[in-house]
Amino acid sequence: MSQHVIPVSEIGRARPATAMANLALPATGVLLDRLQRPLTDLRISVTDRCNFRCSYCMPKEVFDKDYQYLPHSALLSFEEITRLARLFAAHGVHKVRLTGGEPLLRKNLEVLIEQLAALRTPDGQPLDLTLTTNGSLLARKARALKAAGLRRVTISLDGLDDVTFRSMNDVDFPVAEVLAGIDAAKAAGLGPIKVNMVVKRGTNEQEILPMARHFRGTGVALRFIEYMDVGATNGWRMDEVLPSAEVVRRIAEEFPLVPLEATAPGETAQRWAYQDGGGEIGVISSVTQAFCHDCNRARLSTEGKLYLCLFANAGHDLRPLLRGGASDEQITSAIGHIWQSRSDRYSELRALRGPDTDGAAPRRVEMSYIGG
Ligand code: SAM
Ligand code: SF4
Ligand code: SF4
Repeated sequence: MSQHVIPVSEIGRARPATAMANLALPATGVLLDRLQRPLTDLRISVTDRCNFRCSYCMPKEVFDKDYQYLPHSALLSFEEITRLARLFAAHGVHKVRLTGGEPLLRKNLEVLIEQLAALRTPDGQPLDLTLTTNGSLLARKARALKAAGLRRVTISLDGLDDVTFRSMNDVDFPVAEVLAGIDAAKAAGLGPIKVNMVVKRGTNEQEILPMARHFRGTGVALRFIEYMDVGATNGWRMDEVLPSAEVVRRIAEEFPLVPLEATAPGETAQRWAYQDGGGEIGVISSVTQAFCHDCNRARLSTEGKLYLCLFANAGHDLRPLLRGGASDEQITSAIGHIWQSRSDRYSELRALRGPDTDGAAPRRVEMSYIGG
């Protein structure tokens, strides 16, 4: 018998978005939560499936051939996603990131991108529309994605050494194909390109410097992400986290770095420039330095549940509203009340009391389900 993740529908009790739909709350373009954080970013998961089995996200022993993914009928349709994105934009969302699972596995994704690219913010601007991908299908799809209206991409890449990379994706996928995907994205004009590397102490820390050397001077911004305790299946341990400060120290030994100012509130990465003008790197220190105080991100799961934090154990189900005939005004009100009730700040609390590693903690939603 294979081990199974607790289905998300059974984690905690879904809070009824439907109840909030009838308390009118029109969109004003600025929506603040209980900690005065505005809603500006929406991450939309378009599939819970992936062709990789990164051990920190979808370990093979759990996501095996018997694993039950969402049936097609449970997925939000492109029209449903676009309708929600339009209503979120009216509340102040101006950045939309498509994610998953592996978003490029969703059939006809270009059609969704076309629909999202046509949306406007209240002041008439197009959305900053981007996508996070493992890069495996990018060489084939970059041009079509650009033509559909995608602005830029972030590619996940955990090392340059082929043996290390094949073992981290755990499906023996060669690094050369991801590098070809990055080149194709560049050629298609999907920039500025970011490359995300999750650093696991003892697994790929030796790849930090080769990655820095490789992407220096190429215009690609490399981001190092601390291995996080997301989900309930990756067997996370604090001693496998390499603090970002250590990543910066190692790179600065070879290439002197100067800190850069944040360009926007809620920016997740702390950025550093190479002193000699070779571009920049960023570190995302979700474990050692919480950045909840200005977290402006909401996450929409593949089946339409709204999550207010990456570490939430329950989402607010918007699908019954979409499929039950609710008006735009009702859905707008529901989104407004949900965000206004938000006080999530998991990483800050983790820093105060330590991570939940004892099994007594509530089961959390998987990263592959709500996206990174
Ligand atoms: N499949 C796409 C990809 O890998 O880019 C998009 C979805 S993936 C869940 C989004 C991001 O989450 C990736 O950059 C991935 O490396 C990161 N991620 C997944 N599990 C993580 C963990 N335990 N700690 C830190 N980052 C993680
Ligand atoms: Fe797939 Fe991305 Fe998760 Fe890796 S990190 S298993 S590529 S969803
Ligand atoms: Fe935002 Fe939650 Fe991450 Fe804090 S822990 S930065 S609230 S997603």
